[in-house]
Amino acid sequence: MKYDLVVVGGRIGGSISSLFASQNDVDVLMIEKRQEIGVPVQCAEGVPHYAFEALDMEPSKKYVCTEVGKATVHAPNGKSVNAEELVDVETLDKSISTGYILDRKVFDKHLAIESARAGTDIMVKTTVKDLIRKDGKICGVVAKHLGKTMEIKADMVIAADGIESNIAKIAGFNTNNNPTEICSCAQYELVGLNIDPDRVHLYFGREIAPGGYSWIFPKGKDIANVGLGIRGAPETAYHYLKKFTSKLNATPVELNLGGVPLSGPIDKTYTDGLLVVGDAARQVDPVTGGGIFTTAPCARIAGEVAAEAIKEEDTSANFLKKYDDMWRDKLGDLLKTSIKIRKVADKITDDEMNALVEFLEVTDPEKISKLSFIKFLAKHPRLLRLVKDLL
Ligand SMILES: Cc1cc2nc3c(=O)[nH]c(=O)nc-3n(C[C@H](O)[C@H](O)[C@H](O)COP(=O)(O)OP(=O)(O)OC[C@H]3O[C@@H](n4cnc5c(N)ncnc54)[C@H](O)[C@@H]3O)c2cc1C
Repeated sequence: MKYDLVVVGGRIGGSISSLFASQNDVDVLMIEKRQEIGVPVQCAEGVPHYAFEALDMEPSKKYVCTEVGKATVHAPNGKSVNAEELVDVETLDKSISTGYILDRKVFDKHLAIESARAGTDIMVKTTVKDLIRKDGKICGVVAKHLGKTMEIKADMVIAADGIESNIAKIAGFNTNNNPTEICSCAQYELVGLNIDPDRVHLYFGREIAPGGYSWIFPKGKDIANVGLGIRGAPETAYHYLKKFTSKLNATPVELNLGGVPLSGPIDKTYTDGLLVVGDAARQVDPVTGGGIFTTAPCARIAGEVAAEAIKEEDTSANFLKKYDDMWRDKLGDLLKTSIKIRKVADKITDDEMNALVEFLEVTDPEKISKLSFIKFLAKHPRLLRLVKDLL
């Protein structure tokens, strides 16, 4: 078997790379180890509008459960503030002020279907076990389907195989994740809630989600993804999830577990004959843990650059560096700033978070000024130092 391009992994990173490569007239095979694309869900399914802009796509009712425009931040002591009251939402662009809670089982499969319609061949329940090399260059994969091992030759390969990314590892990348930079997540899809379908909730505190946060992402009036991510905690994410949801009096219809890499991207995302995309490249926002809006533009660039390289008959690292340059141009600064913010946020204590939320809650949004914030910081010298670190 021979293809121009083999893409390993069939979710966001894989389907988008395949879609844009196929649209650029190369023969693509996408390989997914699960028997069905999009399952199990390992996601809270929240995404800002601009993720779709990066794909020149309008979000569709097929996979959008709710459109959300409001957010409440809950401090460890139970006080809360509505984020939309702090800014003049009217002046914000829709791409920032609007988000969606998706049904990723439908969304991921939709992307794969679009990719197939553009010409991508797809193999499911097929695991890529190894890479084929010739003269040091990657030129195919060894895959296993229902007990049968096969060699699939290709001009090049895209590794979109998620957080563990054995394929990037086999290609020689250091993808070892520092355990302190992995957010361990647990989430229920809960039914029987009484919630505003337009509002997401974020909860902070060492007792609630040490090293991370808990979320309620509504998928309807009585149904939501309720989950959390933690780091460096004495108990498992599931333990904190059980504790957090015990007071909600709602019924789980799904449990999702998974890890999110928060260290920022790997140093290099290309080599001779191979690109790395998505969680495999740690193209994830280190503050929120969101990986859809970051992976989408990177995967598009990967698909387009791969098609160009194949047509130019130059899949050398030298040519493929273009992908690395292009995605870092688009997202590099955002991810770097986000790492800085996360490192500062890691140092904020529960008491400081309580004080910050209280300040935002009691101050009339019209009157929140640089001066009032400086006065607030003057009362919290440790926070002031952290803000200075950030600047
Ligand atoms: C609990 C949780 C909540 C999250 N919430 C959000 C959120 O609300 N918003 C957001 O933007 N992001 C969120 N994320 C992050 C987001 O889900 C990921 O960043 C995103 O799914 C990454 O996509 P990907 O295609 O790179 O990798 P993945 O989604 O991990 O897909 C990799 C695919 O590769 C396949 N695969 C792996 N190895 C092989 C192999 N050897 N052969 C063939 N196939 C293989 C896997 O089966 C899988 O289908 C969350 C993550 C978790 C864990």
